[in-house]
Amino acid sequence: MATYKDIIDFMNEIAPVHFAWDFDNVGPMIGRLDKKISKCLLCVDASKEVIEEAVNNDVDLIITHHPFIFDVQNSIIVKSSEDFSKNSLIYEAIENDICIYSAHTNLDSVEGGVNSALAASVGAKNIRPLFEQNCAGKIGYNAIGELPEMILLKDFVDVVKSSMNTPAVKYIGDDAKQIKNVVVSSGSFGDYSEAIAERKDEIDVIVTGELKHGVAVLYNNIGLPMIVVEHYFSERVILPVLLDKLAKQFDSIDFEISKKEYGTFKYK
Ligand SMILES: [Zn+2]
Repeated sequence: MATYKDIIDFMNEIAPVHFAWDFDNVGPMIGRLDKKISKCLLCVDASKEVIEEAVNNDVDLIITHHPFIFDVQNSIIVKSSEDFSKNSLIYEAIENDICIYSAHTNLDSVEGGVNSALAASVGAKNIRPLFEQNCAGKIGYNAIGELPEMILLKDFVDVVKSSMNTPAVKYIGDDAKQIKNVVVSSGSFGDYSEAIAERKDEIDVIVTGELKHGVAVLYNNIGLPMIVVEHYFSERVILPVLLDKLAKQFDSIDFEISKKEYGTFKYK
């Protein structure tokens, strides 16, 4: 039977930890390396609900996208049984012998990772890095691809909404603009990028998970449309892709995507 260490090694092949940003914290977060793994849960965030789901279903390992532990921990003290802080989740995972592994910006930037999955899910083909990457196998934080056919922005917004299975999206841009070349940037878009703005003639739209108001204003000024789905939905697309790769490698392990996780926000 495969151990936690076997899965750590395979995850490092799928998304090498050295692809992660310097500030990030990725890789094994919690667990005993020789623990035998028979059940593994995949999620974006190991939230209170996901940890409960794991405990109730005898899950041995949770693989998360967002780092389960990010800040330096000086102690893991839980104030009471009513304390649902991060420390309580760490404590609960350890108490229930649940290993946790996180693949974050390394999984965003690898070929076949989150940005590849996001581009593919909105129908883009010929997916490649928008900017040249410094090492093979890396696609970066902005991927570009082409749609099989031209489509009006207003119709492409519907495509994104339905392919992401999200209740709503927001967007800027001219509804009548013809869309062919799509750039995706999963999760938070970050600040206005001159490097992207300079290439606006070859980019018809950017699809992202989160966009600051001031950045949206600047892109609107230069006439570059942007479609914003919720952060979670822009990253959830990797989970079935990851499950498929893991299930092919470890046929003795039962892999599942969390059923308790469905974004964080409600829509009205
Ligand atoms: Zn994210």
